Formats: sequence, C-alpha cells, structure tokens
Amino acid sequence: MTRVLIVGAGHAGGRVAQHLVEGGFAGEIVLVGEEVHIPYERPALSKEFLLGKQDVAEFSLPVCEASEACRFERRVGRVTSVDPVERTVSTADGETIEWDRLVIATGADARRPPIPGNDLSHVHVLRTIDDALRLKSAITAAKNLVIIGAGVIGLEVASSARGHGVAICVIEPAERVMARILSPSASHWLAEQHRAAGTDLRLGRGVSEIHGDAVILDDGSVIAADTVLLATGAAPATAAFASVVAAGADGVPTDAHCRVEGHEHIYAVGDVALSSSPIYGRALRQETWRNAENQAQAVAQILLGGEEPYSELPWMWTDQLGHNIQVVGFCAGDREVVRGDPATGKACLFQLDGDRLVGAVLLGEGKQRKHVERLILDRVPVTDAQLGDPVQALKALA
Ligand SMILES: Cc1cc2nc3c(=O)[nH]c(=O)nc-3n(C[C@H](O)[C@H](O)[C@H](O)COP(=O)(O)OP(=O)(O)OC[C@H]3O[C@@H](n4cnc5c(N)ncnc54)[C@H](O)[C@@H]3O)c2cc1C
Repeated sequence: MTRVLIVGAGHAGGRVAQHLVEGGFAGEIVLVGEEVHIPYERPALSKEFLLGKQDVAEFSLPVCEASEACRFERRVGRVTSVDPVERTVSTADGETIEWDRLVIATGADARRPPIPGNDLSHVHVLRTIDDALRLKSAITAAKNLVIIGAGVIGLEVASSARGHGVAICVIEPAERVMARILSPSASHWLAEQHRAAGTDLRLGRGVSEIHGDAVILDDGSVIAADTVLLATGAAPATAAFASVVAAGADGVPTDAHCRVEGHEHIYAVGDVALSSSPIYGRALRQETWRNAENQAQAVAQILLGGEEPYSELPWMWTDQLGHNIQVVGFCAGDREVVRGDPATGKACLFQLDGDRLVGAVLLGEGKQRKHVERLILDRVPVTDAQLGDPVQALKALA
C-alpha cells in the first residue's frame, strides 16, 4: 500500500489530503503537523477573526476522514529531518515515519528581526490561530499599538484594530507601504487612507530597540507602546529539509509538476514551494491563499496519476478600512494607466509593459479580476487609451 506523508497540516497540506481522499486515492495518507488545530485558512486571522466577526470553525477545512479506498491518519508533531534514501522523516518526539511519497507543506514562519527586545512578552507575531488569540486579547486591552512593518498583515491589523479605540503607529523602513506588491501610486493612495483614519504612519524609519512601554526609532524618537506587532514578513519553513534543499534557498525548489529537484518522490506545495512557473519561465514562491488552494489540488492530481503542470498567475487580496484591494500579476510594467478615480475608492491601476498588460491593482473593482487575468495570460495587445477609458468594457478586450 502506497503511503503519502504530508508534512505541514496547514492550508495546503490539509487540502492535499482532502483532494486525495475525494479523488479516490487507494493507499495510506499520513498528515503530520505542528499545530493542534485541524487545518485552516489563515486570511481571516488578521481580518474577521481579529474583529470578532468570524470564529475558527468558519475558516477551518472540512475534517478529513478515511474512505473505503484509503486510510487516513493525522498526527501532531514537528518533523525535524528527512532521509530521502531510506524514505523516512524523524520527528522532535523521536519518531521515525516511513513514506513512499512525501509532500512538503510547511508554509512559512513569521520573521522576528534581531531588534533588541523582540522577545519581550508584549511583542507579537501573527501566523497562527494561537498568535491571533494572543494578539486579539492584547489589542482589546491596549492603549498604544505599534506595528513594525507596513506590509499586508501589518496594515490589515492596523485596520482591524481601529474599532478598539487604540492609538496605532505603523513603522516601515521602506519609503512606501506594501512596496513589494503595490505600485507607487497604489501605495500612496493606501497610505493616505490609513493616515486619514488616524494611523501615525512613519515611513523610511527603522526600529532600534523595543522597551517594555515604548519603541525607539532609528532617529531617536520614542513611541509609546504597550503592544507591539512584528509584521516583518515570513520565511519559508525549510529547516527540516536540509537533506533535500540547498542552504540559503528561498524555499523548496520544484519543477512545474511540484517535484522537488533531484527527488522524484518528493513534492512541495504552498508558501514553502519555490516552483518553476510555466507562465514566467522562472521560479516563483507565492505566499497567497489561491496558490495554497490550487497548488494543493494540482499536487493531489499528480499523485493520483495526472500529468498537468501547475501554473498560477499571482493574485492576492487584502481588506483594509472598508476597501477591497486585489493585485493580479506583478506591478512591474514600464508605466501605469489609471481607469477611474482612486479618490472614490474604485479604480483599476494597470501596469503595462509595451503593449501588454503585466499586472493590475484593483481598488474596489474585484469584479474585473477575471478579465484582467485573461488579458495578461493571453498576452492581448492593448493601448493606454483602451485601458484608461471606463466606457471600454475589459471583458470585450479580453
Ligand atoms: C494573518 C494572515 C493573513 C493572510 N491573508 C491573506 C489574504 O488576505 N490573501 C491571501 O491571498 N493570502 C493571505 N495569507 C497567506 C495565506 O494564508 C498563505 O499563503 C497560506 O496559509 C499558505 O498555506 P501553506 O499550507 O503553505 O502554509 P500554512 O497554512 O502556514 O501551513 C503550514 C503548516 O505547517 C506546519 N509546519 C511547519 N513546519 C513544520 C514541521 N517541521 N513539522 C510539522 N509541521 C510543520 C505549520 O505549523 C503550519 O501549520 C495570509 C496569511 C496570514 C498569516
């Protein structure tokens, strides 16, 4: 009986197990993960869950169960190493688990930059349900919340914390917010929304120390802080896989079929996977809900005998201060064309490279996503005039 061992019982790992069972996999599935919770989706942790509008059951995956064809077992534990020759993993509890096919689905760990004071009890990160519970209870009692990092999670928490009557300061070393994902004009628009909502946004500033009641900036300013969130990104969780991943790699490198390079029976999915993208012809590591969702399905299909390579155009969304913002592709064009007026909260900010669309930021215009994706994927030639004119339906161009 073939045993598939999935390491990491988060969003992608949980979905691989679910799709294997539903796809009639005849064998044994073992899902081993560090968290005690059943697999769940994380986006609500910084949004609805923090706002008290959703509980855990609403974003947990369906409970996976054995079927007639397949055995299923979920274990709680931390995998510490892999032996690709003997086809085993070792766990922190001293267990050895055998496998025929291994799926690495360990996601990413919240980064803790080496700032003195980063381990004080009022300093938080946000990756898991347990992190979110601690942060939620701290914010409820807080007077001064300092968020280090103006990326997606930092700004979503700033938005969610608004209703708690807490003073919020966001500190970001880059000169603009969500700089990795948004175009400069979209960053500028979003920063204005946060400032208008009362957030003290300090751009181009680092933190030199965290104290029990304050954060000290690199220009010597002292910001009162009884609660601090380190929202400084996430690093792929590769520590257990030194035997199959070169030191310093930004994730687990895979081919387009999600197979780990040089190891035909090992696969990687989700945030940890650095997968060869047929769309871009280079390796991409995507930290998004859709990637976890669809790559898990692709790997399950491949384990069930499918041949389709995995191909995914980057897409993410964020909800902040009542605005839904979606980013498709990359903000890496040679110019931006704007349709609509960002001041109204509804606009499309298109990124063009020559006469091709390569990305877009959709402010309150999520309904355009599918058309934008078609224009990018089909490499449809477009003009600035067509994209900038709100009367021209994108659907007709795609
Ligand atoms: C607060 C928050 C908000 C987000 N919001 C959005 C959003 O709005 N839109 C969007 O597109 N994306 C969002 N994301 C990103 C999205 O949630 C992730 O891309 C997705 O969870 C990745 O799934 P994964 O299975 O790869 O990793 P995870 O869901 O993190 O699962 C990995 C699991 O592996 C376990 N693990 C790690 N190492 C080991 C080990 N050695 N042994 C055993 N188990 C291990 C971990 O404990 C974890 O349970 C958000 C993420 C967070 C944290």
